[in-house]
Amino acid sequence: MADKRLVFCVHKHAASTLHYDLRLELNGVLKSWAVPKGPSLDPKDKRLAVQVEDHPLEYADFEGVIPEGEYGAGTVMVWDRGWWEPQGAPNLEQGQLKFTLHGQKLRGSFALVQMKNRGPKNWLLLKHRDEEARPGYDVTTMEPNSVVSGRTLEEIAKA
Ligand code: MN
Repeated sequence: MADKRLVFCVHKHAASTLHYDLRLELNGVLKSWAVPKGPSLDPKDKRLAVQVEDHPLEYADFEGVIPEGEYGAGTVMVWDRGWWEPQGAPNLEQGQLKFTLHGQKLRGSFALVQMKNRGPKNWLLLKHRDEEARPGYDVTTMEPNSVVSGRTLEEIAKA
């Protein structure tokens, strides 16, 4: 089943404002959410995750600079990468997705929950309590660099 594993990545994206893009392979595309504060391993944190357009699967490996004037202009880092599995049948129409991440930084059980009173694009990303949870740990600050190149955003921008 190894070749059937669903890809996930988190891009760290220095666009007009710094944010993180969570991308989950589903039905042949990368379903994507922009997370302004980034993901957290602390179950107390509920992070706004704004659904954005689907991206092609190949984009999970992209690290580099998107030129001025193009969509998403700015520096893009592969901040985390791995595979994921839904808990139950994945159906975003239900407004809730429980899933397990197998990344280098993000591991264990998470959920995306749609905030229907805030419009269809606005979701919350949260970490469930399990053995991978790290209460009080700030993963974005403590582990800021690329998982594929070890580079900082500044190093990617200069390359
Ligand atoms: Mn982005």
